[in-house]
Amino acid sequence: MTTPRLRPLIAGNWKMNGSRALTTDLIRGLAGLRAARPDLAVDLLVCPPAPYLTLAGELLRGSGIALGAQDCHVKASGAHTGDVAAAMLVDCGCQAVILGHSERRADHGETSALVAAKARAALDAGLTAIVCVGETEAERDGGATLEVVSAQLEGSIPADAEAGHLVVAYEPVWAIGTGKTPTPDDVAAVHAHIRGLLKAWFKDGAEMRVLYGGSVKAANAAVLMHVPEVNGALVGGASLKAEDFWGIAQGAV
Ligand code: PEP
Repeated sequence: MTTPRLRPLIAGNWKMNGSRALTTDLIRGLAGLRAARPDLAVDLLVCPPAPYLTLAGELLRGSGIALGAQDCHVKASGAHTGDVAAAMLVDCGCQAVILGHSERRADHGETSALVAAKARAALDAGLTAIVCVGETEAERDGGATLEVVSAQLEGSIPADAEAGHLVVAYEPVWAIGTGKTPTPDDVAAVHAHIRGLLKAWFKDGAEMRVLYGGSVKAANAAVLMHVPEVNGALVGGASLKAEDFWGIAQGAV
């Protein structure tokens, strides 16, 4: 049985892109599009690089669009040069943080145990943790997708997480930034599997949003966003243009 449709979340991961000028233009553009269609039944979230969070938070005020970050440290404060605490993100106006993105797992050797500790810190600070999981191309070709996703999920989500503050993003690594996407049937199979695990582990697992991420664009959003158990998108490249991001949001309803 599929879960009743949850309100979609369209989250933009700007990655290490942008400037003060881009942040200003992009958020003004998005806020204008959102203001013209407040009835569109989607939640929007933008996740700029850390240096632009405060500016973005100011620009987003009153827009109905939420602000998120791309990482946080496990500790609340201290001698951790270059790192950012979850409470600092809250102080900058963030409501959410992306954790365990495959680029952080690859670039910084982040393990699922570290991701779980970061998610714990995020939840303690009052943030929503968007926990990313996904298989590499070799793992997919080896038929290990469900095994990899299960292990990452089990290792990365705190045991007491609740639907109001926990979002899962399924992002096949081979689909990120490549223009390649899984077939809708493949997405459906992985999302059904994730939903089964969440329901088994959490009493409100049916209400936890599970996003699909990997080369989502306005042109494929309507199909991907209507796959059963897909509750929105985590968007990289197409989140850097207001019209493209908004096009995805329109496709999700
Ligand atoms: C991402 O990195 O989270 C992502 C989904 O990127 P893209 O949309 O560019 O594939």
